[in-house]
Amino acid sequence: MQHTDTRPILSVQDLHVQFTLPAAKGQMPWARKRTLKAVNGVSFDLHAGETLGIVGESGCGKSTLARALTNLATISSGSVRWQGTELHGASAATWQALRRDVQMIFQDPLASLDPRMTIGEIIAEPLHIHEKALGAAAIAQRVQDMMQRVGLSPHLLNRYPHEFSGGQCQRVGIARALILRPKLVICDEPVSALDVSIQAQIVNLLLELQQEMGLALLFIAHDLAVVKHISTRIMVMYLGRVVELAHKQDLYASPQHPYTQALLSAIPIPDPVRERNKTITLLQGDLPSPISPPSGCVFRTRCPQAHARCAESVPALQAVLARTHSACHLHTTAETTPA
Ligand code: SF4
Repeated sequence: MQHTDTRPILSVQDLHVQFTLPAAKGQMPWARKRTLKAVNGVSFDLHAGETLGIVGESGCGKSTLARALTNLATISSGSVRWQGTELHGASAATWQALRRDVQMIFQDPLASLDPRMTIGEIIAEPLHIHEKALGAAAIAQRVQDMMQRVGLSPHLLNRYPHEFSGGQCQRVGIARALILRPKLVICDEPVSALDVSIQAQIVNLLLELQQEMGLALLFIAHDLAVVKHISTRIMVMYLGRVVELAHKQDLYASPQHPYTQALLSAIPIPDPVRERNKTITLLQGDLPSPISPPSGCVFRTRCPQAHARCAESVPALQAVLARTHSACHLHTTAETTPA
């Protein structure tokens, strides 16, 4: 889809989301409070009709980022501009108006639907809130049209969520998110709870709907294989920070950050010869605690290319190729002495 307006619809600059934690077991009540920096200086732009894939392991901050963009988590500092309007510190009325344009699809399709409501009521609810002038007949028609569009028979209107499979529940979640024809849909791991065969159907459905409606998507997943098909650009996060942000083709052809390289090396290649000959970079250990992240580069405790400077300073996200930004000291130093 071609877009003539070059201004982003969403612009995030140096976003921080942090939580103050209760004192740890055995800690004196007057001891310094612990802070969890879930999102730590994230910046990106998103244009109309574009899909930005956001990838990282559990605990990297991607879901907190999504929640901050929809006011489900409080922004600590930084700027989030939606079509030019600043959302950090915005009034409840501004956030309420935003909900018409920005919708969310959740990871657990069944848990995200109210079990006491019928499918028809769940899909219609946003219309009752945001399009109060619509009559009952118009609402019923909109709901039935949307059900058909997402592959659900309108005959299922009066059923309850527990009567549906995971894939069908996610179709209900998509119908509810799209009934207002929003401009942006934030998809928080929408397929990770589904069988692999159903995952492809849901991703293809989102792609079709995106093209029909000119939607922008933020598509969150924990592995690079899932976002490949749907994304225009991909942002890789690690421990609350962006480590690489690149156009999809460039990221898969020439990943620049050691973490992205490790994630990509773990994806199976359908060609048996290439799969046998490829080098897999195994990440050592677990993700460090975001309460006490490593000094310097947060990836350094697992990075196979870590060197002395990596413990001393945080690498800045910088342009390293025409369409790739990466945050790694290897881009700015010849020093490769292991730490
Ligand atoms: S800055 Fe150092 S530790 Fe971090 S990714 Fe680059 S080489 Fe690895």
